[in-house]
Amino acid sequence: MNTITQEHIQVGEIANGLPLTIPVYRLQGNGSGPKVYIQANMHGAEVQGNAVIYQLLEQLKTQTLASDITLVPYANPIGCNQKSGEFTLGRFDPITGTNWNRMYHDHSKLIESFVSEHLDAPEDVIKAKFRALLVDQTQAFLDQPAYRVNTGKRIAVTLQRLAHEADIVLDLHTGPISAKHLYCPEYAKASASYFDIEHVLLIPNEFDGAMDEATFCPWWQLSEAYKAQGRNIPVWVEAFTVELGSQEKIDLTEAKLDAESILSYLNHKQAFIGAEFAPKPITRYACMLDDYLAFYAPMGGMVEYNAALGSHIKAGDTIAKILRMEQYLSEKPLHEITLDTDAITILHFASASVNQGTELYKFFTNYFEL
Ligand code: ZN
Repeated sequence: MNTITQEHIQVGEIANGLPLTIPVYRLQGNGSGPKVYIQANMHGAEVQGNAVIYQLLEQLKTQTLASDITLVPYANPIGCNQKSGEFTLGRFDPITGTNWNRMYHDHSKLIESFVSEHLDAPEDVIKAKFRALLVDQTQAFLDQPAYRVNTGKRIAVTLQRLAHEADIVLDLHTGPISAKHLYCPEYAKASASYFDIEHVLLIPNEFDGAMDEATFCPWWQLSEAYKAQGRNIPVWVEAFTVELGSQEKIDLTEAKLDAESILSYLNHKQAFIGAEFAPKPITRYACMLDDYLAFYAPMGGMVEYNAALGSHIKAGDTIAKILRMEQYLSEKPLHEITLDTDAITILHFASASVNQGTELYKFFTNYFEL
């Protein structure tokens, strides 16, 4: 049985002076495997990742570990408590309106000078020094006078500081009403086949503020910068956003399958000794981020969603019916909405009432088998 340690790290204070804390669980391996960091629930309603961390811990305590593994449920202690009536909000900081997953720290500015100072250094020195630089930079950000750091940034960068110590970073999210899908950096495409996730979005190495980008972009950019100087080094870190399904839902049976999917990937990365986790033989479809189509409601109304999650639809298929009861006598009350291209349905809006321009669906287009 492995020892699991728990620490509570403080990420802020609320108005009555109480500390905001996050539980951090750690397991120690023999040091030969890549370091792993997994967090869940940065967006308040996206709770299933906590159940996946539960199922991961249940499995991990009996494995022989090569890797040190850090697991962080309830990564955003404000988000999951942001309720309105029966529902959880928690996608945006309620005070600033900023997406909680767009506040991580960008390290792009460090790359050029680091490469020129370590152009001929051995690979292990480059890896260790660049890692130390990322950790130091995030720590320095947190060590600024408190008046310079806003609430969301303090939470995000505290998590990022932990994540930079790892070689593998998994950020567990969900869509609104959603099929499982994986955000995968293009260079790590081969790793996507070890997750039991049918839908893979391939993303470029541009920083847009999210946790996965905050942790893989610096390493990808580093590799590209060395390449520009005529030297090839590996990209040492992989990071993924794992979209587990729908928000506002805990399903412990699905969580066990999701945990096995993650364990299969980690086993491929040699995080365990003598484990038998392996990917399921499923067909995986990939889509470039530019081809990930947001379909906005062409009119306001009441929506019946007709495109099943994960379904492959043909151009011309009906994807929704929009009901307009104020038109029952004067015009037509029911409008069939079609898509003009072949696509895979990945997610749809969580509510049946929409304004014109609400993001109704997201689709994979120009998809291909991985
Ligand atoms: Zn999310």
